[in-house]
Amino acid sequence: MSAPRWIRLAGRAGDVGGLPIVRALPHRERRTIGAWCFLDHAGPALLQGHGMDVPPHPHTGLQTFSWMIDGEVLHRDSLGHEQVLRPGQVNLMTAGRGIAHSEQSLGDRLHLAQLWIALPDEQRFCAPAFEHFPVLPVMDRGGFSLTLLVGELLGARSPVTVHSPLLGADLACAGAADSVLPLQAGFEHGLMVLEGALEVEADEQPAERLAPGSLLALEPGFQRLRLRADAPARALLLGGEPLAQTPLLWWNFVGRTGEEIAGFAQQWNSLSGDFADAAVPGYTSSSGGAERLLSPEVPALRTP
Ligand code: MN
Repeated sequence: MSAPRWIRLAGRAGDVGGLPIVRALPHRERRTIGAWCFLDHAGPALLQGHGMDVPPHPHTGLQTFSWMIDGEVLHRDSLGHEQVLRPGQVNLMTAGRGIAHSEQSLGDRLHLAQLWIALPDEQRFCAPAFEHFPVLPVMDRGGFSLTLLVGELLGARSPVTVHSPLLGADLACAGAADSVLPLQAGFEHGLMVLEGALEVEADEQPAERLAPGSLLALEPGFQRLRLRADAPARALLLGGEPLAQTPLLWWNFVGRTGEEIAGFAQQWNSLSGDFADAAVPGYTSSSGGAERLLSPEVPALRTP
């Protein structure tokens, strides 16, 4: 068997509700890393005016996963949850057959990672749910402070509930750091630097320098990852078992076919079916924008 490889994928710059982001997933050359199917690195930004304001919008077939690094966001959803997300905390919203939520920044700074996790067939029409995780396992490792976001690593286990074999970890250092992490050979992995720069080495791959803006995607088969920094830096490590079927992502929906996505959009726009009770109580626009985001017309979608 040939040695596993990695590829560097350039993220795309964008804007979500007034916040500058780099979208790393999905990427034309890599749709998913395990069940991680969407990755926005948002900020770090000094917010202008009203800050970030994302009006009520729907989700299906996925879990939204928000990891706050700096700043605060107020989450509201159609189940009636109202939760401020603060640094070091995770919000996990399981959309299942359908949920709507809004997100608004509090304060004038923001830095976070926003991800989606595709739900497997058995869970994708489950009842919607929302969980807030104020405390996650934190370990010191060779100068890095490692926060275990999802899954198991170095004998620790994250309390975050997911439905497929998955890993998520944040590694931050305040100065020089050097650490080797074991990787599960059956997982594919992704590494994104969020601040500063890292020297990355995995198995026999020669070391590469990684800075914010791109995602290093590692094929299954790697067994160890070495990260080195000589100045303050932060990175997000993702992993998971490769999916048998690539999920279909369109707008805020995850599904399997174009017909299914068109049905989600029709139900959300008309507040019927699984979106009959999808009003988000308490939301008022802070930016003078729409009271909810309507789905654009669904084009002909090809199953990936
Ligand atoms: Mn959302």
